Amino acid sequence: MNENNFSTGRYSRFVNLPTIGVEGMKKIRRARVSIVGAGGLGSVTATQLTALGVGHLRLFDKDIVELSNLQRQMLYREKDVGKPKVNAAKKFLEKLNPDVKIEIIQEEVSTRNVDLVTDNVDFVIDALDRFTSRFAINKKCLESDIPFLFGAVSGLAGNVMTVVRGGACIECLFGHIDDNALPSSAETGIHPSIIQLIGSLQIAEATRVMLKEKPLLTNRLLFIDIGSMLFDSIKIKSRNKCSNAKYH
Ligand SMILES: [Zn+2]
Repeated sequence: MNENNFSTGRYSRFVNLPTIGVEGMKKIRRARVSIVGAGGLGSVTATQLTALGVGHLRLFDKDIVELSNLQRQMLYREKDVGKPKVNAAKKFLEKLNPDVKIEIIQEEVSTRNVDLVTDNVDFVIDALDRFTSRFAINKKCLESDIPFLFGAVSGLAGNVMTVVRGGACIECLFGHIDDNALPSSAETGIHPSIIQLIGSLQIAEATRVMLKEKPLLTNRLLFIDIGSMLFDSIKIKSRNKCSNAKYH
């Protein structure tokens, strides 16, 4: 790790923030993260973390780039259509910042392979659009005592919450959701602005996690609706009936 030019080089504008400093930047350079999903939220969070100089980024997605992704998924270019998302993302991110080790896994995450998400990482970012995978990762992160940074978007609205052991989790918040009963982004449409907002807030929380500071969105769901410009948050309580209750 070249720490000599932290104050003047690539990371200087971040290092010079009073809340970061050289010691904070060293922590970020050492941080290891999984991002699950390389769609809209994955594009925002992976790009920001790579530009910031995180140490190791593991990116999961099974999908192929489609033309309809390009309206909001900034990791991809028109020439990437038809290629695996994770391959195109790796190329983009490595060009953005060669300091960052980019690891890609072209698989859908489920209970079968969820260990890959939490293995040797400091925290996990939720960039999914389905709840089955999200619940599996939520549980595994609580078991492994790893922060899980939940984010979700639909239409013009989105949510952010940070799950840590000892606090409320995604199952406390939603109970059980059947993915088949939810509309897809193809049905609801999606505004790129809400994705940028929610992904950026996840990275603001991730920064606190990397600095070993207490995240601000534990037991609190932040929701944003750009249709009415409503930004608000509500307290979320741990539920005794949650299947993860022993970790709350
Ligand atoms: Zn819970």
